[in-house]
Amino acid sequence: MEKHDITGVKALLSTKKKIVIVPHKNPDGDAIGSSLGLCHYLLKGDHKVHVVVPNEFPSFLKWIPGGDAILKYDSQSRFCDALINDADVIFTLDFNAFHRTGDMEPVLANSQAIKIMIDHHQSPDDYAQFTYSDVSMSSTCEMVYNFIDKLGDANKIGKDIATCLYTGIMTDTGSFRFASTTSTTHRVIAELMDKGANNAKIHNSIYDSNSYEKLQLLGRALSNLKVIPESRTAYITLSQDELNQFNYKKGDTEGVVNYGLSLDGVVLAAIFIEDKQEGIVKISLRSKGNFSVNDMSRAHFNGGGHINAAGGRSELSLNETVEKFISILPSYNKALNDE
Ligand code: 5GP
Ligand code: MN
Repeated sequence: MEKHDITGVKALLSTKKKIVIVPHKNPDGDAIGSSLGLCHYLLKGDHKVHVVVPNEFPSFLKWIPGGDAILKYDSQSRFCDALINDADVIFTLDFNAFHRTGDMEPVLANSQAIKIMIDHHQSPDDYAQFTYSDVSMSSTCEMVYNFIDKLGDANKIGKDIATCLYTGIMTDTGSFRFASTTSTTHRVIAELMDKGANNAKIHNSIYDSNSYEKLQLLGRALSNLKVIPESRTAYITLSQDELNQFNYKKGDTEGVVNYGLSLDGVVLAAIFIEDKQEGIVKISLRSKGNFSVNDMSRAHFNGGGHINAAGGRSELSLNETVEKFISILPSYNKALNDE
């Protein structure tokens, strides 16, 4: 964000505003952490602030400070529409295009509020009056920290903000192990610990709160794992029947795709998860090195994301989606074997 943008945002927030904060659909740790971290910060400025998420967030995030006050658009759409239509300022966090909010797209696109985007995904749309977009950032939470810091308010970060931002940086970096984790990310994390984020407690709340059924579902996913050595690729499938068998809850498959990438020699991993209610197969892609799953997802699976982590969808059946994936792999063999 340029200096004149910071001056503009500072002027905008210098008087009391009605503010709505919106992250992407199927919000993850970074989406929830950045939204609530920013919310706690803005509430210190005496604004009226609401966080509206497009749909439910995973139960492993339920403990997060402020989580109780989050509004869900899919179950409270009229109330949320009124808030959005009445807002002076809308922050859009952790996404690059309105369609990433699902059913919220029209109300956001029609809103007259001033939009501020904070996001680290590739190819941001140009809808915001203030755009803070940086694809080199580990997470939107790290950007929210920078945003608060650039506004000269790092001293206002207390335990709640620190806890929210720590959570999103931790989840989006795979606990500080992905290539997007920089020395600056670690410095921000150190600051957040000094400001009250309890690292052991946060890790425990997120990663050691599994249900028995979630672990059993992971077992099934791992037994479904297939490897295509010539493409250095591994993939996992989970059908709707399998999800039902293990009483699937939102968030239960988060991170499972990474097991494919943990195989020695594998540089591309995918998971295909059938969603009969939406009539789609949700796809997650992960890669190592320079192989861009963002490009692959954009080209073939109606999605996008980052170089090493992207999502997408398919309206074909689960089997047909996997067949399509297998059929496009040879065209990537050279790139995959160059990694
Ligand atoms: P995941 O596989 O965990 O759902 O998503 C990986 C990354 O890609 C996340 O940063 C997520 O926001 C992004 N992403 C997931 N699905 C989509 C999609 O359909 N379109 C775009 N543009 N990005 C996505
Ligand atoms: Mn993110």
